[in-house]
Amino acid sequence: MEKVGVLGGGISGLSFASFVTGAEVLEKEETFGGLLRSVKEKGYTFDLGSHIIFSKNSEVLKFVLDLLGENKICHKRNTKIFYKGRTVKYPFENGLGDLPKDEAYECVVDYCETYIKREKGELRQPKNFKEWMYYRFGTAITEKYLYPYNERVWDYPTQMMDTFWVEGRVPQPPLKDVIKAGMGLETEGYTHQLNFYYPKVGGFQAISDGVKSRIDNDRLINNFEVEKVSKEDGKWVVKGKGKNGGERKYDRLVSTVHLRDFFEAYKDAPVEVREAARNLKWNSIYLVMIGLDNPKINDIHWAYIPDSDVLPNRISFPSNLSPQTVPDRHSSVLAEITFNPDGEKAKLKENEVVERTVEDLDRIGVIKRDEVDFTKLIKCKYAYVVYDLEYQKNIKIIEDFAKKDDLVLLGRFSEFRYYNSDKCIESAMEKAKMFE
Ligand SMILES: Cc1cc2nc3c(=O)[nH]c(=O)nc-3n(C[C@H](O)[C@H](O)[C@H](O)COP(=O)(O)OP(=O)(O)OC[C@H]3O[C@@H](n4cnc5c(N)ncnc54)[C@H](O)[C@@H]3O)c2cc1C
Repeated sequence: MEKVGVLGGGISGLSFASFVTGAEVLEKEETFGGLLRSVKEKGYTFDLGSHIIFSKNSEVLKFVLDLLGENKICHKRNTKIFYKGRTVKYPFENGLGDLPKDEAYECVVDYCETYIKREKGELRQPKNFKEWMYYRFGTAITEKYLYPYNERVWDYPTQMMDTFWVEGRVPQPPLKDVIKAGMGLETEGYTHQLNFYYPKVGGFQAISDGVKSRIDNDRLINNFEVEKVSKEDGKWVVKGKGKNGGERKYDRLVSTVHLRDFFEAYKDAPVEVREAARNLKWNSIYLVMIGLDNPKINDIHWAYIPDSDVLPNRISFPSNLSPQTVPDRHSSVLAEITFNPDGEKAKLKENEVVERTVEDLDRIGVIKRDEVDFTKLIKCKYAYVVYDLEYQKNIKIIEDFAKKDDLVLLGRFSEFRYYNSDKCIESAMEKAKMFE
């Protein structure tokens, strides 16, 4: 049987190995799961960022729900935007009725005028993400919410981001819905995510644990940090450090680790390919986990914060996703601060991040400081892929090379796409077919 090496044991690597029986997974950490791991401490369970289960792909959704069996809860989304002291329904365009009347009117008129101009071909095609927001939503919605929020979540200038990816990722409502919303009538946007699931017990790690349980233990090597990849006599040679480090040889190789790290390890790859990988943009995230001595903080699942005076750009409420993620009569908040690794926020000290988060959330009335019962900070180096204007050029150089080199790239940071876990599983299903 062909021996297949899989670098990285997140949901992508694990799913692939669950479909391909000859595959062995090398994972640098003690625990498998990557971003689909959950922190369990003092009766609290927190994920590495707010995670929910939804998918347009029914096969993938079934795969995940079957893994969980009875261990799941179905929710109807209750998500907000904290805007100037108000809670506005998400997506913002569907929540215009929650704004003061004059602001709602401004948004609706602007949206309609922009719509007409666009239909008449009077607007220049957008050249970047910032221009796209104005082109698609008009000035008012863009300047009140979309632009400030997106500048925060990417921590990268939106005029230096491409637009090819926005379809399906940035909610785009029909004209009628925006008018209805402005009049305070009920509308829903981004509907494929309106109903979603969450594990009852174990946080999102229940999913990666479920996939892992389908793989024989002898094919799961943890504490193996890949440091060097090369090709010798038609075989892939992988060298790594860590408790289980050493040298392993494979007939075929699948990588799910960040492209930049992979091509640092694969020194025989052409210079232009390694350079392209180095030029890719991505961001990192601080996750501030807060436990509260409060039996019911609110009924919101998660909320977006466009206001740059508040450190977190998004917060979620794990205790509202499953009551089993908190001790009895407690609540929890998970605050996300995404940051550019070369930017100002990267310089913040960890205690400062926690302190400012608690202070800011107390100030805007989300939590009460004296109810805080637990805090923990986790910093994840890789959170989001950033589609800068050079992205398509760089990724093509890498993909063309990978195809010629019989190297399979899989997952969020190796295909380098804004994938949720469902897309990682879908891609693993597709790529597994190449090994049948
Ligand atoms: C804030 C946030 C919110 C999200 N929300 C959702 C959501 O609501 N729903 C959803 O479905 N998805 C969500 N996602 C996306 C989801 O987390 C990812 O798509 C998915 O976990 C990516 O899995 P992966 O296996 O491709 O990558 P990773 O999880 O990054 O796995 C890569 C693995 O490789 C290992 N590794 C790295 N370097 C090496 C090395 N040198 N040697 C060996 N091993 C190595 C890592 O330790 C890791 O285990 C969210 C992500 C973020 C950041």
